[in-house]
Amino acid sequence: MTTNPDVIVIGGGPAGSTVSTLLAQQGVTVQLFERERFPRFHIGESLIPETYWVLKRLNMLPKMQHSPFVKKFSVQFVSASGKNSAPFYFWDNKPHECSQTWQVVRSEFDQLMLNNAREHGVEVHEGVRVHDVLFEGDRAVGVSIKDEHGPLREVRARGSTTTGRRFRRKENIRSRCTMGSPPRRRQRPFV
Ligand SMILES: Cc1cc2nc3c(=O)[nH]c(=O)nc-3n(C[C@H](O)[C@H](O)[C@H](O)COP(=O)(O)OP(=O)(O)OC[C@H]3O[C@@H](n4cnc5c(N)ncnc54)[C@H](O)[C@@H]3O)c2cc1C
Repeated sequence: MTTNPDVIVIGGGPAGSTVSTLLAQQGVTVQLFERERFPRFHIGESLIPETYWVLKRLNMLPKMQHSPFVKKFSVQFVSASGKNSAPFYFWDNKPHECSQTWQVVRSEFDQLMLNNAREHGVEVHEGVRVHDVLFEGDRAVGVSIKDEHGPLREVRARGSTTTGRRFRRKENIRSRCTMGSPPRRRQRPFV
């Protein structure tokens, strides 16, 4: 395992794999910790056309286009009384390739996204749970983690170094600490 990555990402769902891939594309070293082993069941299968643009940035479009996921061209709403609306065709709103999206199987989609993050250089660790976020003053500087068998141990990000500060200013990237036990002091946004 790399010591002191630039950024630590907690969770390998679409949010975690997206942010870590985008960072890796900028030359940032990323370690991602996911408590489950993929593929794992997850709810939330219906993509919308505008996801096209982020999938494009992630270099995921060819994988989606060659996937067996059901292609989706429109939506239809059903009222509480069972009445169907007219179909809403995405192409009518925006005549562009992005108007075809997909109905995914999340276990498979999330695995594709996580593997894509790996292909971009993200160091992914499955079966590793983040137990706590480590703070120095009001800055999050690392996490304590535990895999299925090992003891609790700490991983520190390089975020507290000058490099980390410079990166945050340059890219204006802000994310929020969302997992782990409440920090001993105030919880603040961190990179
Ligand atoms: C009923 C329902 C229907 C939905 N339908 C849709 C839909 O049709 N279309 C759609 O786009 N969205 C839908 N959603 C929303 C969608 O499921 C979420 O927006 C999406 O999963 C969020 O992705 P995420 O990466 O933020 O979180 P998740 O996909 O939940 O990923 C978080 C990951 O973090 C891991 N993790 C959590 N804690 C830790 C820890 N301490 N250490 C290490 N790893 C950890 C988890 O194992 C998980 O893999 C639906 C949600 C619900 C509840």
